[in-house]
Amino acid sequence: MINFDESPKEECGVIGVFAPNEDVARMTFFGLYALQHRGQEAAGMAVADGVSMSIHKGLGLASQVFTPNTMAELKGHYAIGHTRYSTTGSSSLRNAQPFMIETIHGPLALAHNGNLVNSAELRHELMKQGVGFSSSSDTEVMTMMLARNGGAAWEERIRHAMQKWIGAYSLVILTRDCVYAARDPWGFRPLCIGLLPSGGHAVASETGALQTLGCEAIRDVKPGEVVSLSNNALKVMQALPMAKPSAMCVFEHIYFARPDQTWDGINVHHVRQRLGEELAREVLNGHGTDEQISSTDAETDKRMLGDGLADVVIPVPDSSVPAAIGFARVTGIPYNDGFIKNRYVGRTFIEPTDSLRKRGVALKFNVINENVRGKRVVMIDDSIVRGNTTGPLIKLLKNAGAKEVHVAITCPPIAHPCFMGVDMGGYDDLIAHDRTVEEIREHVGADSLYYLSVDGMMRAVQREDGFCQACFTGRYPIPVDLANVKTGFERFSADGNG
Ligand code: SF4
Repeated sequence: MINFDESPKEECGVIGVFAPNEDVARMTFFGLYALQHRGQEAAGMAVADGVSMSIHKGLGLASQVFTPNTMAELKGHYAIGHTRYSTTGSSSLRNAQPFMIETIHGPLALAHNGNLVNSAELRHELMKQGVGFSSSSDTEVMTMMLARNGGAAWEERIRHAMQKWIGAYSLVILTRDCVYAARDPWGFRPLCIGLLPSGGHAVASETGALQTLGCEAIRDVKPGEVVSLSNNALKVMQALPMAKPSAMCVFEHIYFARPDQTWDGINVHHVRQRLGEELAREVLNGHGTDEQISSTDAETDKRMLGDGLADVVIPVPDSSVPAAIGFARVTGIPYNDGFIKNRYVGRTFIEPTDSLRKRGVALKFNVINENVRGKRVVMIDDSIVRGNTTGPLIKLLKNAGAKEVHVAITCPPIAHPCFMGVDMGGYDDLIAHDRTVEEIREHVGADSLYYLSVDGMMRAVQREDGFCQACFTGRYPIPVDLANVKTGFERFSADGNG
């Protein structure tokens, strides 16, 4: 399988639905459809009818995994679903979610978005007790822990397990007659809940999926909360105290989430516009430090922006479009489209020929030559991770006749790996880990390179704290064994968690 994209990868979207008198499998399918951007490798759903549970999962997009026939088998009022991204190849079907097992308390299924930093220890502990595993996923570890936990009710078993889980988890859990949703005390990964028009409830990684189902009264599942959706109506339990401060992933706003997403009253599209505006202000006012700005010569900044001499601002579609609009608005440099993205080249299992492989990002992007020829271009992008695609994008623009290409990035340099459910690679993979901005500029071949500061990023998010910024600052909200960081990352990455 090849991936044409070096962007950081969100590992999964989750959805849970309780909808009496509705075709709950069909609703879950359309919810997964709305969460497809959070994972394209595998999709699955489990459905319960109060007595028994059925499941279907497979590799590919939701529309490839589910057919009218497979969905006809999934009967009931309770459902959970999952879209998955991972870096694994052959083992990926084994790791597809939800995980379903039979327990002494009845059938149990679980789907997870996140990463436990202590999953290896927990797995080892369970194996010592004779528990066997069929996959390398930490979601299976969580499922087994829930199955074995004591407690009179599932809420209690979930609370007991949460006390041992360290890391990021936004979970949906299905029993024969209830859907549960749980979020870690730091709130790393998103989870929100809404009221269905029919009177049931749905929970999902993003509000967009809930809106697709017609939900109203949408709110976040709070960090540390467990919510149960069943005939007994919505029940909310603060299972663990919320971490202070909480640590939602700021990258959700920068890159992952759909622009129609709103969390805690903050709309993603608006944040992205402000990221562009803040970046423009920093460049214009010279607020960026040497760590954030590098140009081919001292005069470039002024020539690019101060005198308004750059001719056009273009985004790398899609996530950078709002930021480019904001950047253009503040600088006065006209906005235009420069790239056309082929939306159907995502991850493909069909290997390209060698000659096609050499075309790299050209398989994914075409340039509108007329919009860049002879022009000084400012290219806005959301991030540089490994530094593999920025250079080829610049080359595409220059081949199309752009006179100069200046690159402005709407987040700070990513210098540290993520252990909370986002695949960015390890330290050795990150171009900003051991290179200065000038070295990165040289590597990608830009005429100048700008990064937004951490302060500018948080101004755009309009919060001073409550967000994880560890991949920029190296300050992890939870203890991470940095001495063992490479091994740790390989484990997380290869395991292909939720
Ligand atoms: S390290 Fe970065 S990507 Fe990972 S949770 Fe924190 S902000 Fe998000």
